[in-house]
Amino acid sequence: MTYPTDPQCLFCKIVSSVIPSKKVFEDEEFFAFHDINPWAPIHFLIIPKMHIPSMAQVTVEHEPLLGRMMVLAPKLALEQGAGHYPDGGFRLVLNTGNHGGQEIHHLHMHVLAGPRPWFKG
Ligand code: 5GP
Ligand code: ZN
Repeated sequence: MTYPTDPQCLFCKIVSSVIPSKKVFEDEEFFAFHDINPWAPIHFLIIPKMHIPSMAQVTVEHEPLLGRMMVLAPKLALEQGAGHYPDGGFRLVLNTGNHGGQEIHHLHMHVLAGPRPWFKG
């Protein structure tokens, strides 16, 4: 499968294994890996392999892809040890742009879970 990438992008380099990561999941469309600086007992990122800079660039064409990403998140959260709803659960975060606190400009969803307190949030 071919998809647009940005050779300068850190997360595109993680997808292509140019930069190593602790992989959680991979299929044709998505790559998930542990955050290098976790702020909860469970903290990983789900990214589309396709280089989309942020949620600000999302169009109607991305609806099916993002729908599949939203369905993937709870499945991976449980596999990674998140407690069951409603006592357990998880937080999904999509930082967008500078005011949104986005540091890496390749669309990514933070999946945060595990017992409180968390280091942040
Ligand atoms: P943002 O602030 O853009 O929403 O989140 C970017 C996240 O990527 C941060 O939580 C940061 O810790 C994580 N991160 C940055 N560089 C790397 C890296 O090289 N490897 C991994 N696994 N995570 C990274
Ligand atoms: Zn990228």
